[in-house]
Amino acid sequence: MKSASLPLVGHWLNGAIRRDESGPRGPVFDPSLGQPCAEVALGADADIEMAVASAAAAFADWAATPALRRARVMYRFKEIVERNAAELGRAISREHGKTAADAQGEIIRGLEVVEFACAAPQLLKGEFSENAGSGVDAFSVRQPLGVVAGITPFNFPVMVPMWMFPLALVCGNCFILKPSEKDPSPSLLLAEWLDAAGLPPGCFNVVQGERRVVDALLAHPRISAISFVGSTAVARHVYLTGTSAGKRVQALGGAKNHLVVMPDADIDLTVDALLGAAYGSAGERCMAISVAVAVTDPLADELVLRLASRVRALRIGPADAAEPDMGPLVTAEHRAKVVGYIEQGVAEGAIAVVDGRDWRQAAEHGSGFYLGGTLFDHVRPQMRVYREEIFGPVLVIVRVASLDEAMELINAHNYANGTAIFTRSGEAARRFSSGIQVGMVGVNVAIPVPVAFHSFGGWRQSLFGDHHAYGPEAVRFYTRLKYVTSRWPRGADSSNAFVMPTLR
Ligand code: NAD
Repeated sequence: MKSASLPLVGHWLNGAIRRDESGPRGPVFDPSLGQPCAEVALGADADIEMAVASAAAAFADWAATPALRRARVMYRFKEIVERNAAELGRAISREHGKTAADAQGEIIRGLEVVEFACAAPQLLKGEFSENAGSGVDAFSVRQPLGVVAGITPFNFPVMVPMWMFPLALVCGNCFILKPSEKDPSPSLLLAEWLDAAGLPPGCFNVVQGERRVVDALLAHPRISAISFVGSTAVARHVYLTGTSAGKRVQALGGAKNHLVVMPDADIDLTVDALLGAAYGSAGERCMAISVAVAVTDPLADELVLRLASRVRALRIGPADAAEPDMGPLVTAEHRAKVVGYIEQGVAEGAIAVVDGRDWRQAAEHGSGFYLGGTLFDHVRPQMRVYREEIFGPVLVIVRVASLDEAMELINAHNYANGTAIFTRSGEAARRFSSGIQVGMVGVNVAIPVPVAFHSFGGWRQSLFGDHHAYGPEAVRFYTRLKYVTSRWPRGADSSNAFVMPTLR
């Protein structure tokens, strides 16, 4: 369906926007209003070919550009993004629905990776061994892979691409971004600002679209590596398909993050942290806390009592309203899916202390995709609301008798992205941090997203591949090692050429 009145979000190919007015397109919604606000071009073979060809053509010069100059592009890009953060935040909120403050938080966390990428000359240094053998020096260099691609989810349309392209680019690669079709507009602002920062045409391309574009990127012989962030089913598909096509792949998947509350925890701090971590961004964060594990029944009773009134009082409103706690869900389909999980939880016997379906939409909410917060108590490990990722404003409480039981529960879950413990006991915190089999752990920190100079990634079904995202892991992912052994002989070389060379 084509609409004359809605803007068309196009691709960014070889340093310019490309809009094919006659090509296929999909709808983009403003979730706060529940109305279409744009259309997105769905990339065709010609768009993908142009992206790959321009990236491949730009690669040799970009890879040969000194790392210091590549880093300077990132310095300028950071300044441009900061100057235009309000515009970028509005673009995020309009298509995603997250609040203005939350959108700014996303931008800041993304920019931290850009700041880290500015250290490219330091990050790319190799190792040197003088006189490794007599008259022989040995050194290592890290070289870029070539053309690499990033496929990103709807829930962080700026931050997650920024986990990828700043480091891929400063390492000397050319990058193709395939953003989520649900909120495609911010990607074009990023592309324009990279261009304004002096990035040569072809080094960064955006191809909009859905599964078809992803599968074409996975199959393309000129693409060396794929970074993916999204749901586990697609992450697995991307990892298996990409690696069998000979590519390096890192594929970050879904999550079900547990927060363990010990009986000695500061209860006020814990309740505040749980509210923000479970319901912030309407629960559409891969590091959202969706399970509170209460150690002992009396603690669970107090937790439920305190949480229930606060969940009922959540301020839910349009992304541009004055300080709502959370906005709408991203699409009507996603809202229906979350409602389906609430129905399922009730049917399975979980106690809906607060049922988000009871929340009433006011005039200011129009036909937006809102849903109230839900709090389930007495949830058991076999229930679907416990086992599966809901990705909405739903917090479930599981009651256990001890820290050991809490840890067994978490270690048995399919997902292992993030987890946290709230306690005043150093002994309990240390035992938990050491023994828990999860990629990112918080101690009295509910959303332990590592800072940009560390790396981000989960275990088990939350990450396929060997490398975590951003930080030093990204430098390893986006480069390959080469070792050079050199000798500059003076006079005749008396070594026996037929014997395996040894360094003596
Ligand atoms: P999604 O898996 O539906 O989509 C992610 C990307 O894959 C999009 O670009 C989409 O167009 C593409 N895609 C969708 N279906 C595909 C298919 N069948 N084949 C090929 N490509 C396909 O994820 P989403 O709904 O956009 O994002 C939410 C999910 O992302 C949640 O599961 C969340 O936990 C996860 N996520 C994980 C992390 C992390 O770091 N582990 C971070 C953010 C989001």
